[in-house]
Amino acid sequence: MFVIIKLVDIDTLIFINFVLSAVSSFVMFAIYFGNRNAPGLWCWACSNAGFTAGFILLFSFHLGIPPEIYVPVANILIDMGVIIAFVAVVQFVEQPRRTLWIIVPSLCLVVVEIGAFFMVGVDMSKMVPLGASARAIVTVAAGWQLLRHAKPYLRPASTLSALFHFAWAVMLISRVAWWVVSQFNEVDWDPTTAYALIVRIVLTFAVTPSYLWMLTRELDQELLQQARQDPLTGVANRRVMWDVGQQTVGVAQRDNCITGLLMLDVDHFKSVNDRFGHGVGDEVLTGIAGVLVANVREVDTVARVGGEEFMVLLPRTNLDEAFCVADRLRAAVEDLEFSLDEGRILRCTISVGLSFFRQDARDWEGLVGSADRALYCAKRLGRNRVETPPPLEA
Ligand code: GH3
Ligand code: MG
Ligand code: MG
Repeated sequence: MFVIIKLVDIDTLIFINFVLSAVSSFVMFAIYFGNRNAPGLWCWACSNAGFTAGFILLFSFHLGIPPEIYVPVANILIDMGVIIAFVAVVQFVEQPRRTLWIIVPSLCLVVVEIGAFFMVGVDMSKMVPLGASARAIVTVAAGWQLLRHAKPYLRPASTLSALFHFAWAVMLISRVAWWVVSQFNEVDWDPTTAYALIVRIVLTFAVTPSYLWMLTRELDQELLQQARQDPLTGVANRRVMWDVGQQTVGVAQRDNCITGLLMLDVDHFKSVNDRFGHGVGDEVLTGIAGVLVANVREVDTVARVGGEEFMVLLPRTNLDEAFCVADRLRAAVEDLEFSLDEGRILRCTISVGLSFFRQDARDWEGLVGSADRALYCAKRLGRNRVETPPPLEA
């Protein structure tokens, strides 16, 4: 360790750390102001701002500020940076707030560090073990959260980031261990500073890009989701239904099994909009979508394919079961109540057309056409009912 100290200049190391933290913070704030929904990014940016402020303060002695002031303040800013980075990770992996409890022991150590400073002044044999332990606790916790709770599509990036956090924690713990076992008796300077600053440079180079990598993956996933989701109701959109439908029909052809397709249309929906406004109309559509999703199997696909039209795809079903599902959905929508002002209740009904592959059609487009004809039939026969397609006229 002493060899390293002789080879490097502490001021240069602090300066490099300051520049890296400032650039990380700037990049993160810039991305945040471009996309305020990016999870955890505000905290990551603030955490790096904390590091930046901490490192710049470590230069204060050049301005004649006594170490009794700048050393503790700089260290506390860096401690806070590490704690806020943990909050960012918890937000990023969408864990509940109670996960933040681990901050409590870490903050307690920071408070003891401040207390020790007020009692005995700048004493590195106390400040370093206390501060480094406080940082190590939340750093390990952040790595653990990334390893355990990141979504599957984030795994490579989050695992890498978790490993960097653990490496960081190992450095912190080794600093604590050195102070505990070395019985070094000059307490107004810390021989592990150069080691810590070098490791931190390496880790900032690694951790910041790994955060940005995770964030890119998350935003990519969001875009993918938006392209596949109906924005009003949250169910799949027409494009997904066509993709899944074509695939399912292909599998049904190969395995010789039955696929059911329901085409559902809200009855007299225009009059709902006309009487109660578009807002209530939107609420009705969202409520109906929720009922449809709640009443089908996991393998079934529910999509909104038009204004007040939905489709439900039932792979590997049989005629009786599919008819039961269709009627269950119809009845569930009929039972659904929407509360309006002054205690008024609105109810809606749906008409359902049901067709089967290969009974009614030989391909996906044909299956959709048959379900559409069946729906038309249900409308003509009085609405709020389930119909199968009438035979095609010769
Ligand atoms: P029918 O029983 O024959 O299906 O009659 P209908 O009134 O439901 O059918 P029509 O096709 O005449 O009206 C559909 C209405 O759906 C018209 C349109 O304003 C409304 N609509 C389409 N998309 C939306 C939407 O996103 N939100 C709301 N609130 N209304 C929508
Ligand atoms: Mg319609
Ligand atoms: Mg309608």
